[in-house]
Amino acid sequence: MARALVCTEDGRQLPLSARHWRCPCGAPLDLTAPPLLDPARLGAGDPSIWRWSPVIDLVDERIWSRLTLGEGGTPLLPLDPTRPSLLAKLDFLMPTLSFKDRGAVVLVAVAVSLSARSLIADSSGNAGTAIAAYAARAGLPVRIFVPAATPGAKLASMRAHGAAVEQVDGGRQAAADAAVAAVKTTGGFYASHVWQPAFLEGTKTFAFELWQQLGGRAPDDLVLPVGNGTLLLGAAKGFAELHEAGLVPLPPRLIAVQAAACAPVAAAWRAGLPTTAPVTPGPTRAEGIAIPAPVRGRQILTAVAGSGGRVVTVDEEAILDACRSLAGLGVYVEPTAAATYAGVQAHLAEEAGDRLVVFPLCGAGLKSVPRKI
Ligand SMILES: *Cc1c(COP(=O)(O)O)cnc(C)c1O
Ligand SMILES: [Zn+2]
Repeated sequence: MARALVCTEDGRQLPLSARHWRCPCGAPLDLTAPPLLDPARLGAGDPSIWRWSPVIDLVDERIWSRLTLGEGGTPLLPLDPTRPSLLAKLDFLMPTLSFKDRGAVVLVAVAVSLSARSLIADSSGNAGTAIAAYAARAGLPVRIFVPAATPGAKLASMRAHGAAVEQVDGGRQAAADAAVAAVKTTGGFYASHVWQPAFLEGTKTFAFELWQQLGGRAPDDLVLPVGNGTLLLGAAKGFAELHEAGLVPLPPRLIAVQAAACAPVAAAWRAGLPTTAPVTPGPTRAEGIAIPAPVRGRQILTAVAGSGGRVVTVDEEAILDACRSLAGLGVYVEPTAAATYAGVQAHLAEEAGDRLVVFPLCGAGLKSVPRKI
């Protein structure tokens, strides 16, 4: 448990501390490397993310064992019988019905181990719900700043867990700005899934599970939604750790999916730029990936390029079609989750050959405003 924070821009190291949610230079922080993954040291029989606790390596078992809801261990299966080499990982089958539980439980456990007294977060909905649930289990008060347009079901669940939910006029960035201002004035622990690298220590288990479910191999292509990139960066990190341990010869190509209405990563990718510039978002059904200025834009672009992957965009019509197709396959997910499936269709349309392609379905349908599809 001697891991430290390290700046993603200048390499400066800082001790793990409740105060350091970003580098003094303004850049996001990562964590120094955990121990090498050793399959012999994994918790046998535990299907949750905590099976991988030797390489999460941030919090004591006495803390996480009080907080866990058994998050992780989600099914991997071919949804469409006509495409046996296309596998879906059903990450909406989580305690709070989105993949965010992977990261949120680790982040809240770190907050507890750093003796935080209260939490502050900002979210388009699912991260806030996950943080609210684990904060409730930790007995920590939490304030969550959300955009005014956050779906009612997400607000209701955050409030049910006891979070003080503050709706902010002006979209996702305004919510983040309000949270940072509250951190400054109150000194609460900034439980940001975007800034805090502890969150990525949870989302990296997505890669570990996938590797295990595939019988000890990586897929050829991994198609992932990208807003702030917390699943993409976690998965990239997980496969990098598997590679480092000699357990996969080649990490998968990362295919990043953005909604065309809000696609700063795609814009930078197309222009060949090393980092993202803020965009003015248009309206989209995929509110969970509508992030106009992703904090870790440079890291996302580096991860995608380093994997030999690419960035695809999906329009509103394709998202709606994907909602319908998935419902027809027996799966009811929120439009943000369906956007990934639309990205899979776009990717497969351009990709010849029988590659093993995996994608997640990240959020349950009942989380978003009920609408006719
Ligand atoms: C949060 C979320 C995403 C995007 O995750 P990022 O970390 O912002 O890239 C995608 N789908 C769903 C359902 C989400 O809740
Ligand atoms: Zn720095």
